[in-house]
Amino acid sequence: MKTVVDKVGSRFEWMSRDEITEFQGAALRTSVARAARSPHYSAKFDELGIDPNDIRLTKDITRLPFTTKEDLRLSYPDKMLTVDREQVVRLHTSSGTTGKPTAIMHTQQDIDCWAELMARCLAMTGATSQDVFQNMSGYGMFTGGLGLHYGAERLGMLVIPAGPGQTARQIMLIRDFGVTCIHSTPSYFMHVAEKMIQDGDDPKPLGIERAFCGAEPYTEELRAKLQDLYGCRVYNSYGLSEMMGPGVAFECTYQDGMHVWEDAYLVEIIDPETLEPVKEGAVGELVMTTLRREAMPIIRYRTRDLTSILGGECRCGRKHARMARFVGRSDDMLIVGGVNVFPSQIEEVIMRNDWLGGNYVIQLAKQGALDKMTVKVEIAQAVFDGSLDNIRTKRDELANQVKDQVGFTVNVEVVEPGSLPASEGKAKRVMDER
Ligand code: AMP
Ligand code: ZN
Repeated sequence: MKTVVDKVGSRFEWMSRDEITEFQGAALRTSVARAARSPHYSAKFDELGIDPNDIRLTKDITRLPFTTKEDLRLSYPDKMLTVDREQVVRLHTSSGTTGKPTAIMHTQQDIDCWAELMARCLAMTGATSQDVFQNMSGYGMFTGGLGLHYGAERLGMLVIPAGPGQTARQIMLIRDFGVTCIHSTPSYFMHVAEKMIQDGDDPKPLGIERAFCGAEPYTEELRAKLQDLYGCRVYNSYGLSEMMGPGVAFECTYQDGMHVWEDAYLVEIIDPETLEPVKEGAVGELVMTTLRREAMPIIRYRTRDLTSILGGECRCGRKHARMARFVGRSDDMLIVGGVNVFPSQIEEVIMRNDWLGGNYVIQLAKQGALDKMTVKVEIAQAVFDGSLDNIRTKRDELANQVKDQVGFTVNVEVVEPGSLPASEGKAKRVMDER
């Protein structure tokens, strides 16, 4: 393991807690001073009477303002930039669906840092230069493509930049080139397996050893199903464009929470209502500050993603903090008849039923003044005999399980395999027609 780590050149990976804290203090000072050079932060600091020189230690972070998606939009295209345009070598925008996107710019040093962080993530799962890696993530503006690509090349893997979609071609490439590692959204990875099963094929003999899955929330139950279908290990991968992209946090071989690289990011978990830090170990909104970014340092970015910091030390020996699997985003929370529900709660129940497939949607509609939730889920190909008539009892059991989970009655419809829209990137699970 060590030799691989040395190969990706990371002196940060095995830092002790004291080293991390010391490094973070110095890096925060640099980052804040650098941010103050941008039009956005210089105006903000002036307005709030903040002198960047007063920020000495990591605990001083709370004196700084939060940065929101809205701040990024308002400073579009370059009001957070701290270097001359000439030094910028790359631009990514985040996958916003409406209005102006948010643009993140990088210097060569930023791109190198990103590749290093990403290579560290991949090596942490045991991947080496011997592996053949197929990247099923979108290239282009979406950071999942180039992010993983550069990291995997840094590690010396053979990289196949397949991009998403064209499922038959994906399977052919995996077979023909002996692919051992995959990067995909969990929903698309599930789709590939189900497509194979539907065609009378089996994903297991493909010989995939590791899959890096992220870009959208998914449950432990969905992970288990994928691991079972492919006979491989699925590692949770977290990142967001604002913080570079993937490579922010990743699971090690213990698959017990994602190590967040604290030499690159200062992490806080806050209560989204009060904006105060949550109690140690409690779930809240993840807030991140970049520590090594040159072109566009971002301070206290409110990710809207909900997680907690796990206590205790990881068995792998790395001291970088671990984050729990994400519950979802605060803006993903559904309010149905006054009750709060996360789509992941429904997913958990579905994935526990092995007679069901891996694709589902949640529909919300108004029935008079009342909210009505319908969950549509595909039956597994293996148990489907051409008719849905004989599964009524099972469907009613499922409806009861969902009711137990969310606390209200939900209409459950079981549909034929392959009949729900399949996703190639981030799955759209919720259709809110209210
Ligand atoms: P993007 O802005 O397109 O880079 O998307 C980043 C967002 O994707 C994050 O803010 C999260 O909401 C979501 N995301 C990424 N990775 C994960 C993960 N492993 N689990 C849950 N959500 C994730
Ligand atoms: Zn670990």
